[in-house]
Amino acid sequence: SRTVTDVICPFCGTLCDDIEVVVSDDGKELHEVYNACAIGAEKFLHSQAKDRITRPRMRQEDGSWKEITYDEAIDYTARMLVNAKKPLMYGWSSTNCEAQAIGSEIGELVGAVVDNTATVCHGTSLIAVQDIGIPSCTLGEVKNRADRILFWGCNPAHAHPRHMSRYSIFPRGFFTGKGHTGRKVIVVDPRRTDTAKIADIHLQVEQGRDYELFDAFRVAFKGEHLPDVVAGIPKEKIYEAAETLKSGRFAIIFFGMGVTQSLGKNHNIDAAIAVTRDLNEYTKAAIMPMRGHYNVTGSGQVWGWLFGFPYAVDLSRGFARYNPGDTTANDLLRRDEVDAVLVIASDPGAHFPFSSVKKIYDLPSVAIDPHETPTTEVCRVHVPVAFVGIEVGGCAYRMDNVPIETRKVVEPPEGMMTDEEFLGRVLARIKELQGV
Ligand code: SF4
Repeated sequence: SRTVTDVICPFCGTLCDDIEVVVSDDGKELHEVYNACAIGAEKFLHSQAKDRITRPRMRQEDGSWKEITYDEAIDYTARMLVNAKKPLMYGWSSTNCEAQAIGSEIGELVGAVVDNTATVCHGTSLIAVQDIGIPSCTLGEVKNRADRILFWGCNPAHAHPRHMSRYSIFPRGFFTGKGHTGRKVIVVDPRRTDTAKIADIHLQVEQGRDYELFDAFRVAFKGEHLPDVVAGIPKEKIYEAAETLKSGRFAIIFFGMGVTQSLGKNHNIDAAIAVTRDLNEYTKAAIMPMRGHYNVTGSGQVWGWLFGFPYAVDLSRGFARYNPGDTTANDLLRRDEVDAVLVIASDPGAHFPFSSVKKIYDLPSVAIDPHETPTTEVCRVHVPVAFVGIEVGGCAYRMDNVPIETRKVVEPPEGMMTDEEFLGRVLARIKELQGV
């Protein structure tokens, strides 16, 4: 066997780039994974599952599955998209930018709505960025410069397990040679999470009252008067946290779904960005969303270049329209506005409301995913594909918008297609059917 070094982990938005993988000499089997966290290692090892599905399958009337060929799956997918008046093409967050680009071309040709997982995650952050901009930075700058770390509504100890050791709390960087001891960590979370347990200050905000607390920080920075308690937190603690941030040389605010999907949504992020902007009156400060899927950021980038919008892009009128709340996947499903669904590289079956999942079940649908998931179980056709970042390379964007080329480390099972190949063949078939 041999060891492949500098492998990128294709699981979360941290995109760790120091993974080592032991593979057989012929490159057909993956034996060991080093340096990854438990969830990252599990993804690599899952590619070796003995019961892995390696051929497309179609659900029959009685609910059983029948194996079909890739050619049949390509034809079904192309016809489904061409015949639909307004198909939804959803997901895109756990595949590479190359596949996302081909999917975008298909979306334009068939007049689809393309939406990614930001729709139930950081879409609100993207709206806020469009509202008032974002003073951000890279994770490298955080590691080398940041001495004040604020986690708001996120729990990296569980969701991004190596984020704290590689970039935020523990690493020794150029100007942060003391590592953890040179940094102050603040966590804002209603729960006493494992991340909160290692913080210097934990502000246990009342559920849904984040907006008030953001505003209180802006007041506290200026030393102005606060009520005795804001959002369940005594004012002394807010002044203390505000002074801690102001006294640092470089402060970074990381925020997650606890604040993007709670009461206030995008307005919370408007306020968070305003806090960051105000903090820059006293010291250097930046803010960054903790993106979940490893390439959800890339999906927003690709559509940003192509269509001008990062998610919820409606191409059904021949030009790009963007109106979150109207052109977002769940809203379209709820209003019965789409008549076919293609899901790729995500799992709405596990994360969408039951009523939306039921709609997917009732419509012509295709799920493209290496795993068996709740989504593949409700779609009519399941197309298994190679694991991006393990069995095929390609570009992915880290949560700080840095593009990173992922690596192929092992061969996919014989005859399996990649996302890019499958979508490329679907695109060619659509052109045939449309006579383009
Ligand atoms: Fe993979 Fe994220 Fe774990 Fe890093 S922190 S090894 S990118 S799952």
